[in-house]
Amino acid sequence: MSPAEKHIHETDDASEVLGWPGHGRFVLSCEHASNRLPPPIRPGPLDAPWLATHWAYDIGAAELVREIVRNTGSVAVLSRFSRLVCDANRDPSDPTVIVPRVELHSLGFNELLSPHERALRIERYHAVFHKKVDEQLDRRLPMGGDVVLVSVHSFVPALYGLQRELDVGVLFNPYEAVATRLARALEARGLVTALNEPYSGRRGLIYSAERHGLNHQVIYLELEVNQALLSTPPKVYRIARLIADSLKELRLRSNAREQ
Ligand SMILES: [Zn+2]
Repeated sequence: MSPAEKHIHETDDASEVLGWPGHGRFVLSCEHASNRLPPPIRPGPLDAPWLATHWAYDIGAAELVREIVRNTGSVAVLSRFSRLVCDANRDPSDPTVIVPRVELHSLGFNELLSPHERALRIERYHAVFHKKVDEQLDRRLPMGGDVVLVSVHSFVPALYGLQRELDVGVLFNPYEAVATRLARALEARGLVTALNEPYSGRRGLIYSAERHGLNHQVIYLELEVNQALLSTPPKVYRIARLIADSLKELRLRSNAREQ
């Protein structure tokens, strides 16, 4: 095995990189992998319950990504900070990149943040995470062959009292042909799949995938997986296998612009 095919697992305060950087054709990113508040950020006395919810991270997404990495021999970059610290899937200039409250609860660790503190958050976490994604793409792309950037997320099974029947959403902009082929492969494995659901990739809502896909001229998609399918390790293994098999059979053209 060449050095490029060695397994790596590197962590810093903002990110975790794992997998085989020179091997599979997927570079995965998981912007909402963790509900961690990196020190010195500390939760206020009433914040703890919120940190256990989908407001703080994408439940099951990190486990799913680890399994997809294992099944495809690819590499992934996962965040190591809660989306409430700052949201790695939002443009840093977007006011919602750091939110002061969730529902009606004011977050103690986000109250009264000065502009300097906000800038520091972006620099320490958001910027570092995205630098790691850049590094993995810079490392993988010169090795040749088709490369696909896949940003992996999970969504809550019920929203505003409505049960969502969707299993997996394939979010795209503009790679519709690739997204459609992937959705068909997932459907063929029994997963209820839709394009640009539960929200549309066309509305600038797949910030991270779009940012790196455009910067590196690589095909990019975002996957949104129903958290009901990720509630136990055996469920995660099953879905990861179905997604990995679907990704592995995905037909691409070598020129990303042609899809
Ligand atoms: Zn997410």
